[in-house]
Amino acid sequence: MASRTLLCWDFDWSLIEENSDTWVLQQLGAEAFYKAGRQAGTQWTQLMDECLEQAASQLGRTPADVQAALHATPFHPAMVALLRRLAAAGSDSNSGMDGGGDSGGVAGGGGSAIDVAVISDANTVYIDTILTHHGLAPAVLEVHSNPAEWRGGALRVAPYHTAPHGCRHCPSNLCKGQVLASLLRRQAAAGRLYDRVLYVGDGKGDYCPSALLLHASQHWHPASDAAAAGGAEAAGSAANGTTAAAAQRGQASSIAPGPCGSGSNRVYARESYPDGLPCSLWVMLRNEAAGGGDSSSGNQAEAEAPEAGSEVAAAGQAGGGRARVVPWSRPEELAELLSKELQLG
Ligand SMILES: [Zn+2]
Repeated sequence: MASRTLLCWDFDWSLIEENSDTWVLQQLGAEAFYKAGRQAGTQWTQLMDECLEQAASQLGRTPADVQAALHATPFHPAMVALLRRLAAAGSDSNSGMDGGGDSGGVAGGGGSAIDVAVISDANTVYIDTILTHHGLAPAVLEVHSNPAEWRGGALRVAPYHTAPHGCRHCPSNLCKGQVLASLLRRQAAAGRLYDRVLYVGDGKGDYCPSALLLHASQHWHPASDAAAAGGAEAAGSAANGTTAAAAQRGQASSIAPGPCGSGSNRVYARESYPDGLPCSLWVMLRNEAAGGGDSSSGNQAEAEAPEAGSEVAAAGQAGGGRARVVPWSRPEELAELLSKELQLG
């Protein structure tokens, strides 16, 4: 029987080579609003909403200006090519999997099925616009992000979760672990059971879903699961079409879904940014593997990538085996790692 893989992406600095939130504000010349809001301690999603509103009302920036900024967002050709190959593999395949015809469900090597999802703290309009601009919307099964819409010529952004999500690791607007758990439960209910999940991320917000996948650690209170699952899930799922509308609310369970904790799962954690600064997810996972569980230890930047990856693997998986946390820093390096893992040839 063919295997089924979920390839789950963070967006900023994982799929694209920028932070789309700050990039767009820079392009719009709205940095002063951003700086003022940061100084005032405004919560991130609310800050983006306010800055975009001010860019429209005070600077006269139009939807076309925002769109132009999004089209110019740095997106490495190797990443674009990887997703295009996944999309092409999907359209070339004769369906056959689970009744076939799922957009975003694509075929990898060895008759395996690969579903691609994006879970991001940016917003739905940014992600949809960028994916569509590069012809990548058909490659993605689901997009989960803060819901955005045009109102009075301004893009307005709302939090993904409309109720407290009870996760101690995640920002108030979005717990990616719960979004991923909910996605896995929905897919399982529809008969799509994943054998493994590959997760790509860089930031603090990617720790919660990574912990869920690596060792089935759930960092939110089960009682809050239902509230969060029924939050903005339907509104926040832009996707490429059908799946978002079919998103079911309130399918809560405190039991981690199928592949969570599986030894086949991998977390592709970005190790450093182009400016050399270390990425939070990598530092957190490495410290956790070292037994510290505290990301405040001072020696963050000295690990060499391959050795550190092996350490994380050894500590994270009894019995050894392949590294479950895979470090990467350059997009072309990640594209090669994933092509190999997914047997794209
Ligand atoms: Zn969380």
